[in-house]
Order: sequence, then C-alpha cells, then structure tokens
Amino acid sequence: MAEEHILVVEDEVKIAQLLKDYLTAAGFKVSCLARGDEALEKFKSLDPALILLDLMLPGVDGIAVCREVRKYADIPIIMVTAKVEEVDRLLGLAIGADDYICKPFSPREVVARVKAVLRRTRPGRSHRRLIAGPLVLDEETRQVTVDGQPLLLTPSEFSLLNVLMAFPERVFPRSELLDRVQGYTFEGYDRTIDSHVKNLRKKIAALLPDREVIHTIYGVGYRFSLSPRTP
Ligand code: CA
Repeated sequence: MAEEHILVVEDEVKIAQLLKDYLTAAGFKVSCLARGDEALEKFKSLDPALILLDLMLPGVDGIAVCREVRKYADIPIIMVTAKVEEVDRLLGLAIGADDYICKPFSPREVVARVKAVLRRTRPGRSHRRLIAGPLVLDEETRQVTVDGQPLLLTPSEFSLLNVLMAFPERVFPRSELLDRVQGYTFEGYDRTIDSHVKNLRKKIAALLPDREVIHTIYGVGYRFSLSPRTP
C-alpha cells in the first residue's frame, strides 16, 4: 500500500517540524505549509489523504480553509486549536471538520487521532472493530469483550464507549459526548454522561480491575486511554 499523504498547515515552524517527524516515523508522507492561502492554492495538487489544520494562520484562517476545502473535497480534516473553549465554538459553526485537537498536544496523540480519523473515513469502513489492549468493541454486532469475556452494556453505555474508543487520547467535553450519543438514548443534561461513565467504569473494572480506561479531565469531560491514570 502506498504511503498516505498528510498535509500539515501550521505557521509555527517548530510544531510543524515536530508533527512532520512523528507522522513520518509512523509511516506517513508529510507536506507542510505555513499559510492558509497557500493551503487553498495547493491542496488539490498535493491531494492529501488528510489535512491537519491550525486554526490561527496567516493569510486565510483555518475556519475559512476548512470551509473552502469542503466545497471541493471530502478530505478528512483535523482542526488544531490553542484553546479547549474554541472547540465548542468550532462545533457550533459546523464547519465540517472531522476532529479537533487542542494545543499543547502530545505528538503521539496526534498520530493516534490521525490514524483513527483515517480509519473512520476510509471508503467502505472496513474497520468495524475498535481494539484497545484487552478491550475489543465490535461496531457491527455491538458487542464488547475484555480478554474475550463479554461485557454487557446498555445501548447508551455502548454508544458512549464507542465514541470514546474511536478517538483514543482525545478529550471530549461532556456537551460533545451528549451531542454525539444523543441520537440513541440520551436526553437532557451533561450530568447524564457522568452517570453513564460511572456505570461503564464499574462494568469495565469488574473484568479489568487494575486499569482505568476512562479518565476524568477535571472541568472538561472525559478521555479514553489505556495509559495509567495521571495523578
Ligand atoms: Ca497558528
């Protein structure tokens, strides 16, 4: 399979270089551009598989670039912002980005998110199983197993885990989780998420006692990660 081409649009040279290094190490071909107008000029000829797009850019800002690219192409776009509060505003604008990352980020997180978005948006959606260590979620059969043992979840708990596992390491604000899962059973309040998370944790802990996978991000929401809980 040919290398997938990632276009990084970022005006901070150090960040662009860091992203390039990590993505290249992960097997991607990477092009970097520092200006929004340049990105609009060149994205068609570069024909990337995915665009990592900084919000604040010289020339044309990330929002305008995202909207303009969307007119021509269905390329997955991950927006990079400097503030977690920006994400709510961007979601409200419905500019058509596939995911959002906040600075400061770990380059490893970015690589994980790039892979996750590519998996989700690839034609045919052949990857119906999300795997995180001993935890396997099958989107087709809606079954979850831990080391092969079935985990019995309610539809809401399943949907919530599905969203979190699809974007490992990503911090989801409660309001976004509510939005994303509302299509199924949720109604009403952000705190509904808390009670579903509590139940989900209890069920997972019964089969996976020594690992926390759903991490609370104080004042924001939740993040799925197999890494040890941060103090
Ligand atoms: Ca910038």
